[in-house]
Amino acid sequence: MGFPSVRPRRLRRTTGLQRMVRETTLRVDQLIAPLFIRHGEGVSRKIVSMPGHNQLSVDMAVREAESIAELGIPAVLLFGIPAKKDALGSENFDPEGIVPQAAYAIKKAVPELVVISDMCCCEYTDHGHCGIINVPGVPGYDERLAEGYLLNDPTLELLGKASVVHAQAGADIIAPSGMMDGMISTIRSALDNAGMEHTVIMSYAAKYASAFYGPFRDAAESPPGFGDRSNYQMDPGNAREAIREVELDVEEGADMLMVKPALAYLDVIRQLRDRFELPLAAYQVSGEFSMVKAAAERGWLDEQRTAMESLTSIARAGADMIITYWAKDAVKWMR
Ligand SMILES: [Zn+2]
Repeated sequence: MGFPSVRPRRLRRTTGLQRMVRETTLRVDQLIAPLFIRHGEGVSRKIVSMPGHNQLSVDMAVREAESIAELGIPAVLLFGIPAKKDALGSENFDPEGIVPQAAYAIKKAVPELVVISDMCCCEYTDHGHCGIINVPGVPGYDERLAEGYLLNDPTLELLGKASVVHAQAGADIIAPSGMMDGMISTIRSALDNAGMEHTVIMSYAAKYASAFYGPFRDAAESPPGFGDRSNYQMDPGNAREAIREVELDVEEGADMLMVKPALAYLDVIRQLRDRFELPLAAYQVSGEFSMVKAAAERGWLDEQRTAMESLTSIARAGADMIITYWAKDAVKWMR
């Protein structure tokens, strides 16, 4: 049977009917709000390329976390801006480092809020890369590899060490984002050996070398000092490789998976959703946020509608959780 008996528009005739047949509705439980933490007190420093977002000192981040929890958002994702950067990113594994301080303070003030620690070296290294760079003198220097190449296994050791520090400070979830081979198994055994076997690992399993990260580097003050990240992050042309990456992370003991960025990789989200059982997150990255903000400022796009459509599409593609700079706005817009 077809037209004229069949008329799909019947189900779109009223908003009541539309509500009844809507397949995907964004839920507040799906949202994760990123926070950028810096040293100091009473600090709230505007991130110019991400309107409405600020780098916050720990006391201000606690207040922000409280308002995030009041809205019903279940989790925050912490990024740290260290006092000092060096070749190894030492502040990342310093118990007095900025993220451990923030994790501790937030868990104390808002225990029910899930604290996720982004686990990478790039915010802490003076060269801005996600681990130890191959130059004579660094731990694990390898003369067979080019100078400037990111050393995988020596970096793993730092990630294991820092993960334990962040978990001991109170982080519920460690989210390694550097795309190092073996990062999940290394972090899992480091946590387990330290008696942190209940700490969750959310793997940035399929993270692409993306141009959409531009504004974030402003926010986290972490642009690579030379070259790019294409010898560790994934090629935007590859989807089968994402499946391979996820298979490995599942084997290594990841509890949750992630695709980053989101909008340009909805097909990858869908393929991973169909193949794997683990909870899947998607990161709607800074560029996805800022380009809509910029267009909205010019009156070229309606921010609310564009943001909600984009978030809904990420959920429809199969993401259980969405990390988004619109987390707080989205909750208000859902009401
Ligand atoms: Zn990194």
